[in-house]
Amino acid sequence: MHTGGCHCGQVRYESRGTPRFALICYCRDCQRASGTAGVPVLGVSMAEFIVTGATRTTESLGSSGKRGIRHFCATCGSLLFGTPEVAPDLVTVYAGSLDTLEAFTPTMAIFTRSRPAWAALAQPLTEYEGAPT
Ligand SMILES: [Zn+2]
Ligand SMILES: [Zn+2]
Repeated sequence: MHTGGCHCGQVRYESRGTPRFALICYCRDCQRASGTAGVPVLGVSMAEFIVTGATRTTESLGSSGKRGIRHFCATCGSLLFGTPEVAPDLVTVYAGSLDTLEAFTPTMAIFTRSRPAWAALAQPLTEYEGAPT
């Protein structure tokens, strides 16, 4: 069970079941949307994901040609999770919003071709220059 929510507390979510992956994404879309060099992402099943509270969304077109939809708190603006059109049964939870950050153990770093040198990790992960293969 993973739980989390936004900064102001209006939006809460929970995910039952086992996450499918845990990675850090360094793509330019994630960088611009979050204001960080890389976004920690927990991949969970849509069927096991429950949200309460109002969110709003922004969209961007991914390299796949499908839309990536990012959900943020309608009140405080915290970026919370994504629902990629390319994988309709998947929710990509932005792990900084988890209640327990230690519950997140990334195994992969993706889109490292746009990772700046100053964001190198102390513990190296399996790296992909672009999308994972
Ligand atoms: Zn909020
Ligand atoms: Zn990304």
